[in-house]
Amino acid sequence: MSKTVHLDEEECIGCASCVEICPEVFQMKEGDDKAEVIKPEGGPEELIQEAIDTCPVSCIRWEE
Ligand code: SF4
Repeated sequence: MSKTVHLDEEECIGCASCVEICPEVFQMKEGDDKAEVIKPEGGPEELIQEAIDTCPVSCIRWEE
């Protein structure tokens, strides 16, 4: 099973929750108030799921 992490940067409001929860996979883009995925193949799945559940605009999701 290979799923990847997708983050819709258009929707992101830059709250940085995902970066706090799982910095291995998410980081804030330099010079921009948006987060980005730096490790789309994933990392600690529980933490990624927590980031997905925590994102206030629900712009992070798994893609199969
Ligand atoms: S939790 Fe959602 S809105 Fe907040 S920085 Fe991450 S992707 Fe953007």
